[in-house]
Amino acid sequence: MASRLRFQMVDEAYNRQPLKVKSPDERPSQYFGKYVFNKKNMKQYLAPEVYQKMCDVMDHKIPFDPTIADEVAEGMKQWAVSLGATHYTHWFQPLTEGTAEKHDGFWARDDEGGLVEEFKGKLLVQQEPDASSFPSGGVRSTFEARGYSAWDPTSPVFVLGDTLMIPTIFISYTGESLDYKAPLKKALYAVDRAATAVARYFYPDVERVVTNLGWEQEYFLVDESLYNARPDLIMTGRTLMGHDSAKNQQMDDHYYGSIPKRVENFMRDLEIHALELGIPVKTRHNEVAPNQFELAPIFEETNLAVDHNMLLMSIMKKIARKHGFRCLLHPKPFKGINGSGKHNNWSLSTDTGILLHAPGKSPLDNLRFATFIVETLKAVYDHNGLLKASIMSASNAHRLGANEAPPAIISSFLGRTVTDLLQHVENSTDEALTMKGKTAMKLNIPSLPELLIDNTDRNRTSPFAFTGNRFEFRAISSEANCASAMIALNTAVAESLCSFRDRVDLLISQGEAKERAILRVLRDDIKYCKPICFNGNGYSDEWKEEAQRRGLDCENSTPIVFDRYLDDRTVRMFEEQHVMNRLELEARNEIKWETYIKKIQIEARIFGDICMNHIVPVVTRYQTQLLENVHKSMQIYGVEKARELSANNLRLIEQISEHEKYIADNAERLIEVRKVANQISEARTRAIAYHDTVAPLIESIRTHIDELETIVDDEMWPLPKYRELLFIK
Ligand code: ADP
Ligand code: MG
Repeated sequence: MASRLRFQMVDEAYNRQPLKVKSPDERPSQYFGKYVFNKKNMKQYLAPEVYQKMCDVMDHKIPFDPTIADEVAEGMKQWAVSLGATHYTHWFQPLTEGTAEKHDGFWARDDEGGLVEEFKGKLLVQQEPDASSFPSGGVRSTFEARGYSAWDPTSPVFVLGDTLMIPTIFISYTGESLDYKAPLKKALYAVDRAATAVARYFYPDVERVVTNLGWEQEYFLVDESLYNARPDLIMTGRTLMGHDSAKNQQMDDHYYGSIPKRVENFMRDLEIHALELGIPVKTRHNEVAPNQFELAPIFEETNLAVDHNMLLMSIMKKIARKHGFRCLLHPKPFKGINGSGKHNNWSLSTDTGILLHAPGKSPLDNLRFATFIVETLKAVYDHNGLLKASIMSASNAHRLGANEAPPAIISSFLGRTVTDLLQHVENSTDEALTMKGKTAMKLNIPSLPELLIDNTDRNRTSPFAFTGNRFEFRAISSEANCASAMIALNTAVAESLCSFRDRVDLLISQGEAKERAILRVLRDDIKYCKPICFNGNGYSDEWKEEAQRRGLDCENSTPIVFDRYLDDRTVRMFEEQHVMNRLELEARNEIKWETYIKKIQIEARIFGDICMNHIVPVVTRYQTQLLENVHKSMQIYGVEKARELSANNLRLIEQISEHEKYIADNAERLIEVRKVANQISEARTRAIAYHDTVAPLIESIRTHIDELETIVDDEMWPLPKYRELLFIK
């Protein structure tokens, strides 16, 4: 195939290019945040009192004061124009997968028939994008047709290309959230409120608790010319067919391996762009699967980290193309090798330190550590089904709960030391608890080693693992907006901390000493949330059975997993924590089901097209060649002898016929089952039909195509194969 030849030439050409480096006097510390209106840049462009107010807003100390909007907008515009910006846009995160933006020029008419550069506060603060085409799950038709975007002053504006990008939330006129960011900010506020109240048991001066997020972004790179020869990759982001390559990840030689030069050039280019945009990227390495890589920043406050991840995903795709690659963010682009995740490292910290940090010497510190660990576990246990729903999607279903992947069950790994600590707290006797004051504390909480978890005490199979000073939520899809998982997790933790606080306060009001009250509640909670703790192999079949026995949510079907959002206890939690109401949750679920359907519908369509217009014709042509060969053989040698000589070809002809028949018949059936499903009016039931009938049919046809790939002449095979797609030199 021409594209294959081109690929080899392209690879060589890229490999001969020198590694991209900046000059030594251009260090990351110097260009970091160059395109961000951060405090340093603000200081230069804003009057001192305006600057101070903006700093306080960004530090979450005060809300934004609209009377300074014009001045802030003017400063922003001057700064942006100095970097060559000509346009501005409200940048928001609708309930589709990416981000949305509509650019406007920085100019208005002057009195003399010309233009002046202008940017007013009201345009900065609020806009009304024509939002009718964004998914709203019916919220807007129920209430008010319009939606508007409102500036989020806690996430700094930045310049991308020629445009000033303004992070915004997107809500309906009646206040319902139409995006990821609005409920995320509410969830972060809820956890701040609840965690601050609990943290004050230990450190009375705590003013605020911040949620941190450090995401690790996995991705695949494929050569652009090969990508262009795969309609499935173009349309769906994953390969809908493709036989295993003889070598894939079985040698474990890709993980942490040396990075191919062509890829290294891409990574450097990407990092420079990311750093200039204020994304503190730090770690890069090869991942387990061939052509799979990872990038991780230093963790940040969650709202900012979410924006940065969205921004990074979009620039990754652009920069990959500069290097002749396509960047695949789909969580399972290739069957049979690892998919890509986005680990979300999550922790809480106060102005004084991280609340999940390994405890020091003081007993109160130990108690603080146990409290935040246990109450997080309780949140994860109470809402394990919801957490799973928060990371489920049509694409992540190929990674979770599919044959080769981890099961779709949320559990938590704590490691030996923390497990022992919790056991110790649980076993502390009533006698010991009734002892007074600090002696009792010492008796009950052993001091822990400074470094809790080293690399040997890690469990890579756990979807929610404690890793030293944070929990790592690993089941998230590489393409997802982290906000979905962060909304669910933070709201659940807020709820659990509120309940903790209520129960401790009740005991205190009944005359119990604070430390003892805390221990009492902790003991109950440790007992209660045991079923969520699992230190074993999360990928094993025994675990699936054990999890079922423990009553954890083991549902595999994505559209049914979404139901967890509408469970009474979920709705109660979101409403009590003021994050979302029932209407918003219902609307969002409509969107989830619709999106699920559309994804599979697109897959089915393109799959049918490839089957009938690419695979079947080529296979028929090859079969005809074989038939001609047999026919000629018969003419020369006679039937008997030719049968013997062409035994192999005759067998292939039959095999091809069988596979071909299966494919053609079932491609037809695929259209039929879609028609049946499409007649169902309710989105949830339709999504279930797509899950139960359309998706499995695609998979079963696929196995026949993959078999044919091993039979048909390589020269003729119309699609680049896995071994070609997956090995950048
Ligand atoms: P791993 O060994 O898990 O692959 P990485 O170095 O790839 O580790 O990524 C770890 C991520 O966790 C980074 O984004 C890092 O900033 C983040 N992280 C570290 N400590 C915390 C913390 N306390 N809270 C949140 N994120 C953290
Ligand atoms: Mg990592």
